[in-house]
Amino acid sequence: MNFLSSLEAKRDGRSLSPETIRTIVADFVAERIPDYQMAAMLMAIFFRGLDAGELRHLTFAMRDSGLVLRWPEDSRPVVDKHSTGGVGDKVSLPLAPLLAALGFRVPMISGRGLGLTGGTLDKLESIPGLTTAMEPARMVKQVQELGVAMAGQSQAIVPADRLLYALRDVTGTVPSIPLITASILSKKFAEGLTALVMDVKCGSAAFMKRAEDAQALAKAIVGLATDGGVNSRAFITDMNSPLGHSAGNWLEVKEAVDCLEGHGPADVVRLVVECAASLLVQTGRAVKMERARDEARAMLSSDKPRTIWTQMIRAQGADLNAFEQKLTLDSCAPVLRELRVERAGHVMAVDARIVAEVVRDLGGGRLTKESAVNLDVGLDRLAKPGVRVERGETLCRVHALTEPAADTALRRLHDAFVIGETPPAARELILGVVER
Ligand code: URA
Repeated sequence: MNFLSSLEAKRDGRSLSPETIRTIVADFVAERIPDYQMAAMLMAIFFRGLDAGELRHLTFAMRDSGLVLRWPEDSRPVVDKHSTGGVGDKVSLPLAPLLAALGFRVPMISGRGLGLTGGTLDKLESIPGLTTAMEPARMVKQVQELGVAMAGQSQAIVPADRLLYALRDVTGTVPSIPLITASILSKKFAEGLTALVMDVKCGSAAFMKRAEDAQALAKAIVGLATDGGVNSRAFITDMNSPLGHSAGNWLEVKEAVDCLEGHGPADVVRLVVECAASLLVQTGRAVKMERARDEARAMLSSDKPRTIWTQMIRAQGADLNAFEQKLTLDSCAPVLRELRVERAGHVMAVDARIVAEVVRDLGGGRLTKESAVNLDVGLDRLAKPGVRVERGETLCRVHALTEPAADTALRRLHDAFVIGETPPAARELILGVVER
């Protein structure tokens, strides 16, 4: 196949045939297409889009670049949740063991940080010793035994997404409805799921900034997933301010453990409960959301999800002593500083985009494919919109590698917090639900 002709065809707005799409995916995985040409194709898709047929063929070609997990007969439904990417979005970390505790099997395949948003794999890898590289057979065995495994794309499972994801991250081609849909659903189809709940983020720090775009992305994902035999539902949720009180890989793991120990931030806990409740309803384990929420909440406040979390990270190589010891530390970065408010008032807004840029520039995210991520830098104790702060109180803490990096972060963070006289109007966290 002449890749250049396909590239020109997409640049000029023409559709690619199913055969062409399959060949492009196979050739890219086999390293017969260089990154620079694939980056141009991604940019062409970004501007020209894909029609429904192209999207379906791309998604399945990406899924079929590796194995599809096969599940032994078992009464526990195979389910998963995926987010389109947020700031401070650690929902998957407590949710996965909660779902296992509720009697589901959860083979969660996630990604690394993408654009300004954090990635579940980077977060998990801040746990000493833990690996997210799992062979399919090991993943199936662990899920059968513990109910949950959290792994990355690999040579064996969705290698096409592993490569395209890393390339999109550094070529400005992430916020594209077809590319996001194919990336997410290639992984979810490879998991062999019965049901999927999606968290489609909407706001200044999300890939979809406008409500109508988030709605279109949710519809694209739910539509294709349902056509592919996976019972699917999407929540559209606010991503104008960070979720929880922390942003940065390790700091978010700490907050995820707080959720599992009964003292997580209200917004994170709400999404964890909502996603779990939705899967209970989607799989027929509960009839009404109210009852399902009660069941999810009760299970989250039991010891079981925290126990399963410990079993899961141990099974994936974590050094439990080092992990528990790391949890006791106030900071793991060399420099810890505080941003203090200069005048009393109410926090009107916290700009998640600035927060994400600061975390990335502290070393917590990537600017090129080769960037090494520092897992311990970031921000915590982030004040939430709506709270009253007195002069001198902390708006957030900065965990940095050097004093100059902390100074720069503190300067930029001034603009992230808007302080006003009167409390802001309450913002909805869950903006909508999309079902077939
Ligand atoms: N999550 C993914 O797996 N892929 C995307 O493109 C965005 C979020």
